[in-house]
Amino acid sequence: MVNRSYSTVTRMRAEIPTSPRISGILFDFGGTLDGDGLHWLDRFYQLYASSDLPLARSQIRAAFDFAEARALEDPAMQNAPLEEMVRRHVHCQFAHLSIDDRSLEEQIATQFTADVRVVANRNRALLEELAQNDLRLGVISNGCGNTAELCDELGFSPYLAVVLDSKLVGLSKPDPQFFVRAAQELGLTPDRVLMVGDSLVRDIQPAKQIGMQTAWLIADRTATHPAADYRISVLPEMRAVLTPLAPLE
Ligand SMILES: [Mg+2]
Repeated sequence: MVNRSYSTVTRMRAEIPTSPRISGILFDFGGTLDGDGLHWLDRFYQLYASSDLPLARSQIRAAFDFAEARALEDPAMQNAPLEEMVRRHVHCQFAHLSIDDRSLEEQIATQFTADVRVVANRNRALLEELAQNDLRLGVISNGCGNTAELCDELGFSPYLAVVLDSKLVGLSKPDPQFFVRAAQELGLTPDRVLMVGDSLVRDIQPAKQIGMQTAWLIADRTATHPAADYRISVLPEMRAVLTPLAPLE
C-alpha cells in the first residue's frame, strides 16, 4: 500500500528550488537598518504632517533634497553622531522652507532620532543573531562619511565585518562596482551574498546585476520585481534566512 502523504512530501521537497547558500548579508543603512523600509523623506512627510504646518509635499521634498545635498558637502557630517546629523539635516530643511521656529525644529529632530533608536535597537539584536549563525555581515551606504560612526553608536559594529560609506570609498549606489567592492571586502563571491535594502533602484537592481541574491524591504506585500529574489516587509523577517527565506510568488 502506497503511503500517499509520504510520497507527496517527497515530491514537493524535490520541487523546492535550490539557491547558493548565503554566507554573507549586506545591508543598506538609511531606510533599512534605521527604519522598516521607510525612506527618510517619508518619515519627514509624517512629522511635518503632524506639525500643522501648511506645507505641500513638494515643498518638503525640495527642502529635504536641499538638506541632503548640503549634508554631503558638510565636513561636520563626516563624523557626526546620529542626533547631530539629524539636527543639522532638519536645520537645513527649515532654512530652505524659510521657517524660523527653533522649537518645532527641535521637536521634529528629536522625534526623528527617537524613532530611529527604537528600530535600530531592535535591529541590533537581529544582527547579533545573524552573526552568531556564522553569516558575514556588512553595511553598504550612500552616506556622509559617518556610517561607521553611526554603526558604533547604534551597537551594530560588533556584528559587522565591513562598513562601506560612499563618501569614503569613492563609489556610490547604484554603481554596481560599489557592490563588487563590498563582496570583495566580505571575502565572498557575489552569489553567496544577500543584499537587503529598501530601494529597488539603488540596492536591489545593481546587486542583482552583479549576481547577488536580493531581499527587497518594502511594506507593500504585493510588490514584486524580477530583480528581487525575496520580499520582506520588516527587517526581522530576515530571520527566515536561517530557515530559509520563502521566495517571492
Ligand atoms: Mg535606503
